[in-house]
This record gives sequence, C-alpha cells and structure tokens, in this order.
Amino acid sequence: MWKLLLLYILAVFLSLIVLPASLVGGWWRWENGIDRNNITGPQAEFFSALEKEERILKIYNVEEEKMMELLLEEYIAGVVAAEMPASFHEEALKAQAVIARTYALSKAGKDGGGCSENPGADLCTCSTCCQAWEDIHTATKKWPAEEASFYLERILNAVNSTRGMVLTYQGDLIQAVYHSTCGGVTETATEVWSGEEEIPYLQNVECTFCRHSPHYTGQLEMNLTAYTVALEKEADVLPVLGEGNIPFLEVVRKSSSGRNLLLKIDSSDRLYSGEEIRNLLGLPSTFFRWQINGDKIVFSTRGYGHGVGLCQYGADGMAKQGYNFRQILEFYYRGTEIQLLN
Ligand SMILES: [Zn+2]
Ligand SMILES: [Zn+2]
Repeated sequence: MWKLLLLYILAVFLSLIVLPASLVGGWWRWENGIDRNNITGPQAEFFSALEKEERILKIYNVEEEKMMELLLEEYIAGVVAAEMPASFHEEALKAQAVIARTYALSKAGKDGGGCSENPGADLCTCSTCCQAWEDIHTATKKWPAEEASFYLERILNAVNSTRGMVLTYQGDLIQAVYHSTCGGVTETATEVWSGEEEIPYLQNVECTFCRHSPHYTGQLEMNLTAYTVALEKEADVLPVLGEGNIPFLEVVRKSSSGRNLLLKIDSSDRLYSGEEIRNLLGLPSTFFRWQINGDKIVFSTRGYGHGVGLCQYGADGMAKQGYNFRQILEFYYRGTEIQLLN
C-alpha cells in the first residue's frame, strides 16, 4: 500500500514538474534578449504565451556590437520599452506595439531588405536606422523603483493583447513610421520624403491630442555667434562671410502642414532641406520660424521628430480621452486595417 502511494507521488511529481519543464525547455536556447532563467510574475506569463511563437528575428545590437536572435514578440516588447515612455496610457502602448510589429515585419527578411546599415540583420537597435530596442531588464532599471513592476506588466500586456496584429493597407503591410510629437498637424510623407509615390495613409492629420507633450511648442534661443558657427560648417558652399555678417536664412518652400521643406542660406545656390537645417541648428523639428532679437536669434518650434505617421504623445492624449488602440491607429493611418499574422 505504502509502495503504491510512493509510486503515485512520484508519478504526480514527474507529470507536474519534470515533464512541463522539459517541454518548455525549447525556448531557453536563445541566449540573448530577456534572461529567461529565474523569471517570475508577468514575464513568466508573457513567455509561456509565446511558447508556440516561431518567428525569430535577427537583430543587430549596435550598442553591444553583436547579433541577437529574438522571438518576434520578445523583440516588440523591447521596442515598446525603448520607443515610448512606459508611463503612457496602455492603449497608446498597444498602438505602439502594433506599429512596431508592422514596421519590423515590413523591413525584415529578403522582401523587406533588412537593415541597410548592418548586412545580415533583419533590423538593428539604432532608432534612426531601424527602431530603438532595449532589453526589458535594462529598461526596468531606468524606471522609478515603485513603478517598475507596474510598467513592466503594462508593456508586456500591451504586446500580448495585440499579439500578431499588424496594420495593413489594401492587404499590404504599411510603412508604419511614427514620431514623438506633431505639434498640431502631422506631415504628408510625399512632401518630406521626395521621390515617394503618394501614400494614402500618410497624410496631414490635425492633432491637438499631443498638447501635453513638452515639445508641443518650444523656443530655442541662440546667440548670433553660435548660430553663425553652426551654419558655417557649410562654409564651403557659402559665400565668404564677412566680419560680423550673419548668414541669412530664407524659406523657399513650405509643406502643406507648414513645415519648412527647402531653405536657402544667404545667396548660396544650394538648397537645403528642412531636415538638414534642423540638424545643423539642433532644432527638434522642421516646424520652425525665427526672429532676430538684439544679439540673439529666437526659434519658435512645434513638435519633435519628422511628423509623419503616428504622433506618440497624440496617441497617449487620445487614449486618456477614452479612445482605444484601434481608434488611435485609424486616426493617424487613415484607411488602414488591423490584420492578424497567420
Ligand atoms: Zn538598422
Ligand atoms: Zn500630435
């Protein structure tokens, strides 16, 4: 009788503990990304939901100079953590998860061409080349200790509850570009990226939902010497600047949203894109005007980033007013549809 009972206990132990551990052991093999040893709580649930996930992306980690192999959804969690403040509303985080996934899959693989800077990688972790990505453990360390587990749970939930969802236009994955703050109106893709065919879902959208962004409007004061030095980097194409001469900036063309598309410095023949002048002067966007005030030049700016596609602060503002992630995506990418990956 006792022997039977011992056998029974042994069988229960094997079936409940040893067998499941060996079944799920498969996804311990990825050494990079989230450390799956000793995970508990929301992360353990997140990973057990990914048990059947087979999509793996090759991600080049620019900071650590190494190639990583990450499960698609594991990568998306790291992008959401790196690209959007974790304090944002959960519906905004969900919208970010859907567009991060769409962006990744439209770029990954042979069809998308992969990362242009790092051959062999589907994407890299550089925010200007591909999308920012951060190991979720590193991300949690940046958050205030009392909020960390709450933020982590929300990010993992945003990824899990939108799992496999991508944004399409007429059946194709969209170009899911996004930016921090539009400052009142988003930009039309064709105007800012010349040579592009008309993209029906990347048009001007009036957005005041980003009013709570610290970048909604801004002022940047530069003394005239610093301003001159910044533009003198282009001295080879500028007419010789005489002593005390201030380079004269002139807008040649504005976009329909009011952003500066083309500018001229002094009588130079060369035209500068708004983005070039923005970089030379360190401005947050191409949405700027200026005036000279004594020995200073004062730039009044609107928004942060290129302004095309989803406005992240706007998404947060919409979510706080009760819109869900589907409505947010439909607002910024008109005429698109959410589809589930097969
Ligand atoms: Zn890249
Ligand atoms: Zn906005």
